[in-house]
Amino acid sequence: MVQLNTINFRDYAKKEKALLQALQMYNIEIASPMMFYTNRLATFTNWTFKSGNCTAEHMAHAGFYLIQDDCTKCVFCYKELDGWEVTDYPWDEHKSHKPDCPFVQLNKRDLTTCHIDEFIVLNSAVVKNKMMETLQQGKEELTRMFDDFKAKITEKINRVAF
Ligand SMILES: [Zn+2]
Repeated sequence: MVQLNTINFRDYAKKEKALLQALQMYNIEIASPMMFYTNRLATFTNWTFKSGNCTAEHMAHAGFYLIQDDCTKCVFCYKELDGWEVTDYPWDEHKSHKPDCPFVQLNKRDLTTCHIDEFIVLNSAVVKNKMMETLQQGKEELTRMFDDFKAKITEKINRVAF
């Protein structure tokens, strides 16, 4: 386990700004701003845990951003976790609930230490998550339309038959 108190969170904003500039040089389009620690951290306003293992800094460092209440999400695997307790280690929770998450598997947490190839793998995973979510929403919409249509037809048939 990484010693949480040895992490210098203050350096992140500066380092991530430099990373963004480097990625722009490679013409790499960032799949989601939530890939960056600084942006994830910014979602944790009014977060319950001000000390202990689950502070906003430790949550963001473990890949999570806040959706609502205490529901958090990983941008790299789309896993949502809530019911956080002060004794939880966010990174360990992430690992145990989603061991195949590309961010967990990379095991670096600080994107600014990634090789460009590693960043591309993570970026691709986020693109895939977004596409899968869009496809799923499309499928649900089509299912709703079909069910609606089927109900109307059934109603018409029943009216004619009886
Ligand atoms: Zn994840």
